[in-house]
Amino acid sequence: MGVSITFLGGASTVTGSKYLLRHGAQTLLVDCGLFQGYKQLRLRNWTPLPVAPDQIDAVLLTHAHLDHSGYLPLLAREGYAGKVHATPGTRDLCAILLPDSGHIQEEDAAFANRHGFSKHAPALPLYTRKDALACLKQIKAHDFGHTFEPIPGWRATFLRAGHILGAASLLLEVAGRRILFSGDLGRSDDFLMNPPERAPAADTVLIESTYGDRSHPKEDVLAELGPALHRLAGRGGVAVLPVFAVGRAQEILHAIDQLKARGEIPHNLPVFLDSPMAIHTTQLFEHHMDEHRLDQRQVRALTRSATMISTPDESKALARRHGPMVILAASGMATGGRVLHHLALYAGNHRNMIVLTGYQSPGTRGATLASGAPSVRIHGKDVSVSAEVVQLQSASAHADASQLEAWLRTLPTAPGQIYVVHGEISAADALRMRIEHGLGWRALVPEHGSTWPA
Ligand SMILES: [Zn+2]
Repeated sequence: MGVSITFLGGASTVTGSKYLLRHGAQTLLVDCGLFQGYKQLRLRNWTPLPVAPDQIDAVLLTHAHLDHSGYLPLLAREGYAGKVHATPGTRDLCAILLPDSGHIQEEDAAFANRHGFSKHAPALPLYTRKDALACLKQIKAHDFGHTFEPIPGWRATFLRAGHILGAASLLLEVAGRRILFSGDLGRSDDFLMNPPERAPAADTVLIESTYGDRSHPKEDVLAELGPALHRLAGRGGVAVLPVFAVGRAQEILHAIDQLKARGEIPHNLPVFLDSPMAIHTTQLFEHHMDEHRLDQRQVRALTRSATMISTPDESKALARRHGPMVILAASGMATGGRVLHHLALYAGNHRNMIVLTGYQSPGTRGATLASGAPSVRIHGKDVSVSAEVVQLQSASAHADASQLEAWLRTLPTAPGQIYVVHGEISAADALRMRIEHGLGWRALVPEHGSTWPA
C-alpha cells in the first residue's frame, strides 16, 4: 500500500501551503496555510477542504508564516481536535501571529460592513481572534533533530531551515519511504538567520521555489537601504516601510542600526516600529539565540533602535509628527494592518518614500506599488501615489535559485521524485528545468488539488 500526497495549496502559487499525506486509513497534514494575494486565491480559504477536518490524524507545521499556519484556527474550529506538531520557535510565533490574523479578519469584516463595500451582507470573518487562541493549545513543540511519532508508524524530524525563527525542513518516514519537505528555505548568506542545514537522504523531496527563477543581487540590504534613507533624510520626508512582523522587521532594524553606526544615515533619524507583533517577535530573538547570527548585545540593540509603538492611539499620534522619520509597520505586502493608514496618509507626497522590503505576491497592494501604479486602493478608496517607491531587491528570507539547487546538492543520494512547490508557476517551472537539466533528477510542478505518489 503506497503513500500518497495531495496538493491542497502551495502548488503553482506561493500561498496556502497544505500537503495531505495518506497511507491506508491514516491521514496527515503538513502545513495548514492561508491563501493570500489574488482574490481568486483568497476565495479558496472559504471552500471546504476535500477531507473533513475530524478525519485528519495529525498536523505538522514547517513554520509560522501565515501562508503555512494561518488556516489552523479554521481547521480546529471545523473539527480538527488532534495535535499540531511544530518547533518551539514556531509555537512561540504562532501565539503571536494567529490571534493577530483572527483580529485582522474581524476588523476587515467590520470595516466592510461599516462602509458597505462588501458584496456579502453582513461580511463575516474567516475566523476570529478567539478561534485562533483556542487552537494554540493543540500545538506540541519538538526540538530540531529530535525524532517523534505524530501517529503510529510515522516518524517525523524537524531540521533547521534558516528563513525565520523556528523554520524547519521536515523529514517524514512511513512504510519504508522517506519524504522530505524543504519548508521555506533561508539564504545561506542571510543577514540575520543561520543557514539551512544539509538535506538528509530521501526518496521524495518537496522543494519550495519562491525565487526559483531569480538570483539575489550581490549588494546587501545596507547598500540598498543606506542611500535611500540618506536621500529621504535630506528632503525631510517620511519613509513608510511595510514589513513582515517576523524576520523582516528585525532585519531592517538591524540594518538601520548598522547604517547609523557607520554614519551613512543621520544617527538621530527617528525610527518607529508601529507593530505590536514585531515588538513581541523582536523580544523572542533572545529566547532562540542558536537560530540567528546576532549576539546578546545586538539583540538588545534591536529593541533600542526604534521607538516602539504599541497602542492604536500612539499609532495615530504619529500622523501629527513631521519628517524626516522612518515608520516600519505590518503587513509586509500591505495586505492589511497599520501600514495601510500610514500609506493612505503619506503616499500622496513626493517628498515621502515607500520602501518595499521583499517579495511582493502578485495581487497584493505591495505588488501594485512595486509595479509603479499611479494609485492604490486602500479601505475602499483610491489613494494616489506620488511618493518615491523603492524596492529592496536584497531583502529576502528565501534562498534564490542557485541556493535552492545548492541545498538539493547536499542530498547524499538522488531522490526518486522531486515536487516543485510554493512558487508562482513561472518560478516553479524554472526550478523544475534547473533540476532536470542541472542535476538530471525527475521533477514536476504539481497542480492545485492533484494527488501523486509520495
Ligand atoms: Zn515563510
